[in-house]
Amino acid sequence: MKDIACKLLVIGAGPGGYVCAIRAGQLGVDTVIVESKRLGGTCLTVGCIPSKAIIHAAEEFHKARESAAGANPLGITLSDPQIDLTKTMAWKDGAVGRLTSGVAGLLKKAKVKIVEGVARFTDGKTVAVETETGLQIIRAEAIVIATGSAPVALPSLPFGGPVITSTQALALAEVPGRLIVVGGGYIGLELGTAFAKLGSAVTIVEAESRLLPLYDAELTRPVTKRLGELGVKVLTGVQAKGLAAKGGALLVAKGDDKELRLDADKILVTVGRRPLVDGWGRDELALDMDGRSVRIDEQCRTSMRGIYAIGDVTGEPMLAHRAMAQGEMVAEFVAGHKRGWDKRAIPAVCFTDPEIVSVGLSPEAARRGGAEVLVGQFRFSANGRAMTKLDDDGFTRVVARADNHLLLGVQAVGHDVSELAAAFALALEMGARLEDVAGTIHAHPTLGEAFHEAALKALGRALHG
Ligand code: FAD
Ligand code: NAD
Repeated sequence: MKDIACKLLVIGAGPGGYVCAIRAGQLGVDTVIVESKRLGGTCLTVGCIPSKAIIHAAEEFHKARESAAGANPLGITLSDPQIDLTKTMAWKDGAVGRLTSGVAGLLKKAKVKIVEGVARFTDGKTVAVETETGLQIIRAEAIVIATGSAPVALPSLPFGGPVITSTQALALAEVPGRLIVVGGGYIGLELGTAFAKLGSAVTIVEAESRLLPLYDAELTRPVTKRLGELGVKVLTGVQAKGLAAKGGALLVAKGDDKELRLDADKILVTVGRRPLVDGWGRDELALDMDGRSVRIDEQCRTSMRGIYAIGDVTGEPMLAHRAMAQGEMVAEFVAGHKRGWDKRAIPAVCFTDPEIVSVGLSPEAARRGGAEVLVGQFRFSANGRAMTKLDDDGFTRVVARADNHLLLGVQAVGHDVSELAAAFALALEMGARLEDVAGTIHAHPTLGEAFHEAALKALGRALHG
């Protein structure tokens, strides 16, 4: 097989890698991308997209079941709704397929060469790819490591048998009768809620004292309340100890307390993801590490000249949109543009019920940073749109500097608030002050009006609350 020489080689075609390659190609950089599994990476094939598809299907089914049970105040009646999970999964796979083909099309359009196989560094400028037809050697002036992450396994509860990863949960043929979720973070709560709505009896086992410890308690309270309404059992401050000797159960314990046996058909372990730093020849390089992730600077440069790293392999926050932004920046940098990381905030959204969105600093984090702050909070129970959608739990909150009213953070918890992430992030990136948000006409009736009202409230002149 003839060796390939190129200016830029990207290893891994997840959101970080494929965006980097597309942007580089658009800028006329001779680019090759290597992918060992499927274009789109974790996000498109076993992460963001399939999980949101299942969350949506679960919500539709749950609503139908509530209507059938007579719990629908809209006057809709239904009888005995059923779900065929095999069909649901096939629909989800169709959406994934359309998106991954879209990525292939975009890479082709940008004239990026795609090589399928496992890439391994042989030195800082050369990579050998094990392809179906043999070893492909690729030499590049610049190389981007975008190999992503993998689920963390618990030593006491290795994956296998009833103990499954999120990837397996997103491909189940049947709804498990009893599902235990170990880890009440992003994946555990998103998928745990979805399976509860699909009909599983769900128990969440979380080691910390509360769910979603990443977000402040005020934001997570409505989510915990809703889990209760859905019949999800939540155990906090509890550790998973391992499978019971007589199968079909998980043993858990709180501190030194006696072990408790929880019967289960499936045990979904979602205790975090680890950067994928093995399998691509790291030993052949002299990369500085930052704990378990590849160390990078503000421009995603590693400790070796000409080698960059982006996305989950560089550690937290492991979010697709962060990986994409890094990929775009590195492509422009390699193309000779002056670029650096100039973002003020990376939005975080948790697709629970209700959803949580957080951009910038919470009031507590802002105060910890030494700022004197103004906080304005507006409840969705006073928002017409939320009320007419029958989902008015939650609120929008703004955090601003007390002296000049510069926005430091915006958060919301409520139904469909994920879509407000764009407005919140734009306000922060543009350096908006409370007066800018208060002076913007927000369309009525929309959830976004709660952002307007929260800013008015922080200014001491709320109109509707
Ligand atoms: P990845 O998407 O992991 O892609 C890395 C790619 O590199 C993979 O395709 C892999 O096959 C390939 N690769 C690895 N090693 C090699 C090698 N040696 N040779 C060739 N190819 C290689 N994030 C969000 O922002 N929003 C969400 O809603 C969200 N939901 C999620 C739900 C789930 C269930 C999971 C698991 C994750 C979710 N995430 C979400 C996280 C998101 O998927 C990741 O942050 C994102 O995929 C990281 O992108 P990446 O490009 O760094 O890596
Ligand atoms: P996570 O870090 O969000 O949550 C892990 C949870 O497991 C934490 O609450 C932690 O306290 C708990 N935990 C750790 N060890 C435990 C133990 N032994 N027993 C019980 N609980 C334990 O991790 P995740 O849910 O696996 O998600 C991985 C990453 O994927 C996230 O950090 C996020 O970056 C990304 N993701 C993002 C989204 C989104 O943006 N909507 C969705 C899914 C995943």
